[in-house]
Amino acid sequence: MATVPLIAPSEDFRRELRRRGGERASRCYQCATCSAVCELAPEGRPFPRRQVLLAQWGQGDQLATDPAVWLCHQCNDCTVRCPRDVRPGDLMQVVRAMVIERLAAPAFLGRLVANVRSTWPVVLGAPLLLWVLLLGLTGHLGVPPGFHAYDQLVPHWLIYSVFFPVAAFVLWAAWVSGRRFWTLLGSVGPPRKGSFLASLVPVFGEISTHGRFSNCEAGRPRRWGHLALLWGFVGAAVTSGLLVVALYGFGAQLPLPLDHPFKILGNISAVLLVVGGVILLINRLGDPQKTGASTAFDRFFLTVVLLVIATGVLAEVGRFFFPAAVACSIYIVHLSVVLTLFVTFPYSKFAHMLYRTLAMVHERMTG
Ligand code: SF4
Ligand code: SF4
Repeated sequence: MATVPLIAPSEDFRRELRRRGGERASRCYQCATCSAVCELAPEGRPFPRRQVLLAQWGQGDQLATDPAVWLCHQCNDCTVRCPRDVRPGDLMQVVRAMVIERLAAPAFLGRLVANVRSTWPVVLGAPLLLWVLLLGLTGHLGVPPGFHAYDQLVPHWLIYSVFFPVAAFVLWAAWVSGRRFWTLLGSVGPPRKGSFLASLVPVFGEISTHGRFSNCEAGRPRRWGHLALLWGFVGAAVTSGLLVVALYGFGAQLPLPLDHPFKILGNISAVLLVVGGVILLINRLGDPQKTGASTAFDRFFLTVVLLVIATGVLAEVGRFFFPAAVACSIYIVHLSVVLTLFVTFPYSKFAHMLYRTLAMVHERMTG
């Protein structure tokens, strides 16, 4: 007689799922309405009904290897149609957060961000404390005489000596987590074919336009918020790179004049970031049925992004209009929240960029 494989539910997984707000999975009666309405599920591999069932049964290992978890964009078309109010879109988001924690390197940082509801004072406070300490130890804590530019307060060498090692660490952590995820994806399902890079290029094209979002109904407004943020961050990163070249390659002096091309690019990026942040904030305040439930994990990422944008804009404006002590304080807070955003990249919702990109490449390579 053939052996029937036993399904061993993970109680730890189920407990953690409930703790993070995924307890509604138990309401699902498998009508499959959610899979029928999901516009993002590929032909022949529908989701999220199957994933809800796996969550119900405590199959955390299977969910960790499932690319569908990441192909979901939490548009919530399924959530608004589910007759049992399971909120499958939110459930997929909870599972993604659990996968991020599970694959995190080092694990303690994954746990720190996963439990941000109670650890946020550390996650936000430690970078601020670091900057204050560094400025104090290097004799820069205080308003510089004749203040007119922030490099008088925080010299460039100090910024680079913090951010370059942090960037190296974040790249390492993202590489380790990404490799773990890639290996898990490849361990089940059809084999991948073709080259990684050949699939990555069209995936980047898709991400740059957020084309899949246009297929959604309930969450469509989020597309513009995401797009504005994406291009705002790209513009800010390019501007930072150009500034380094201008400073050390061409001996430019800061602050750059307002009509300098790099300054214009930086200001356009700032406007995009503000617009994107406002759209996502308004969206978050809307009907949770359409926008998705707000978990501490979600709120943390959005809060840090909004803090980076708000302190960046206020620091820029404050240089001209605020008392020097206020402008300098805002700038230090800005540096600390940027550091938080950087360091938490592999562990926060920001890590979607990494995991979703890999899942989309995997999807293409498996046809
Ligand atoms: S629509 Fe709701 S009840 Fe039906 S399968 Fe999906 S999650 Fe379950
Ligand atoms: S939230 Fe949107 S993308 Fe995700 S499973 Fe539901 S319908 Fe599909």
